[in-house]
Amino acid sequence: MSSTPGPLLVFGPRSLAYDFGPSHPLTPRRFGPGIDLLRHVGAVPGHEPEPVADAALLRLHLPGYVAAVRRLSTDPSGEGVMGLGLADNPAFAGMHEAAGAVAGGSLAAMEAILAGRTLHAHHPGGGLHHAMAGRAWGFCIYNDVALAVVRARTEGLRVLYVDLDVHHGDGVQALSSGDPGVLTLSLHESGRYLFPGTGFLDELGDGPAAGSAVNMPFEPYCGEAAWLAAVKALVPTLAAVFGPDVVVSQHGADTHAWDPLSNLRVTTTAMAAAARVVDAVAHRWAGGRWLATGGGGYEAYRVVPRAWALTWLAGAHREPPDRMPETWRDRWAAEASRFGAQRLPTSFLDEPNAGQEVGSPQRTGEERSLAMLARVRAVALPRLVREAEDRGWWAPALAWAGQELVAGIATGVGASGGAPGTPTRGATPTVRTAGLADLERLGLAPRVVAPFDPRDAAALLRAAALDGARLVAAVSDSTIVGVAVAAPSANEPAVESLLAVGVAPSFRGAGLGGALLRALVDGRPPRTPMEARVGVAERDVVEPADVETRLEIARRLLAGTGFVVRATPPDLARDDPRTLVARLPGT
Ligand SMILES: [Zn+2]
Repeated sequence: MSSTPGPLLVFGPRSLAYDFGPSHPLTPRRFGPGIDLLRHVGAVPGHEPEPVADAALLRLHLPGYVAAVRRLSTDPSGEGVMGLGLADNPAFAGMHEAAGAVAGGSLAAMEAILAGRTLHAHHPGGGLHHAMAGRAWGFCIYNDVALAVVRARTEGLRVLYVDLDVHHGDGVQALSSGDPGVLTLSLHESGRYLFPGTGFLDELGDGPAAGSAVNMPFEPYCGEAAWLAAVKALVPTLAAVFGPDVVVSQHGADTHAWDPLSNLRVTTTAMAAAARVVDAVAHRWAGGRWLATGGGGYEAYRVVPRAWALTWLAGAHREPPDRMPETWRDRWAAEASRFGAQRLPTSFLDEPNAGQEVGSPQRTGEERSLAMLARVRAVALPRLVREAEDRGWWAPALAWAGQELVAGIATGVGASGGAPGTPTRGATPTVRTAGLADLERLGLAPRVVAPFDPRDAAALLRAAALDGARLVAAVSDSTIVGVAVAAPSANEPAVESLLAVGVAPSFRGAGLGGALLRALVDGRPPRTPMEARVGVAERDVVEPADVETRLEIARRLLAGTGFVVRATPPDLARDDPRTLVARLPGT
């Protein structure tokens, strides 16, 4: 990572106009101390948001809804409709222009990234992630983040959206739900306890997009350690599997232990670490293209300014200063105190657990949240990748400004390089057992198996072979264009688990998958049963088929080699009833 002056900071006079009134929790007062602290760490606003044309809003929002926002914008006393004028989203004069400027800020930031004028952009006033196509919702009128995502999609870029707000990123999830080119990951307090009441594990997407929505709901009182563990377990691995071209993230500061509207106990220390993970992911997989927005955050003096500064600093690849600037504390102490915030913090990073005692509700919340994380990994990650991480074969290594963030297992780009271009379909590939020597000698075509980068996939397969996994490969010229992998089951050593069957795109549809699976089954130790499990995560992330088609192909492949499809066990069915479970008898 080169040293850059830092992300393009998006802020201007219009940012202050998004104002639901003096008693509303989402207050523009936060921009005073927030932007001031950003300036203290060296961030200077580089773009002033302006309202976008209605045509840009209409890419996602319904004409009747935009018309209603316009109407109430000029006559706020008019009758409330479509979520407008209700307690959460009271109408205010100029709301169309104010909300349009928030959208304009995120869209301009995305334009700057797409044009290569900046690698990273940070729009603290953005992140209105709840707004729906035809409804204001959760303080959000127009969905600036979803609009920025869609702008990147018009260039054909595939987008990873990471939502760190304490509330589920339901609007972005809904607005990109049919598009497998957008992977949404939201980490939030469970909808059982908190607005908007959604974001459960089983919201995984449908049709071709099945597998491209991922939700990690936390139990109340969960603290920074379990929260950050989930961020580190999910963000890099999902990025490695999906291989995004651009990353958009929402950094709501309302996960914080001191936030008045929610019940998690995250710290600024953990928020900074999470922002670094997102930055590192953008560099590792998306050419550095990263748009970060703000979001919720209702502790306008003690939390939000630090969260914003730390997000920007992550993108500037800089450590925060040790101490909060005295001049900043002096300037804002009186105003903060007037609004109930006594004693402004003296350091950017919080004390452990934000100085609060860890009691039994927190311990329970963390245990349950980590149990949920295991379930999320089970449905959201391709089996080969999940088991590779669990067995220590491979994990995405991630570093920020030279520091290790996620202790991965090095890709170890070997002599083979492992990453030839997409092979064209030539002579019929040869299917045969493959050993470590083959994996070291031959290249691996893209999109045969996860992870997305064939160098990562090749490293994973080499480690698997070294640890006793059985591999069968389809080889065309000197390139592996198909592979099937099995290993002794983690739970039942006398049983083999089928971990993956994959074929490169240009070689699909010719029965190669069936040939690979048959060769794998034929080569198993005598009388060894095999078990298989196929969920929504098993897909080609670039051109996924409809989930029903995927499952039908899997069912045919498995049945054709003697597997018997079984009823999905209740624990799997609860999280995704579409999961296909099958078993090959031992004799
Ligand atoms: Zn960066």
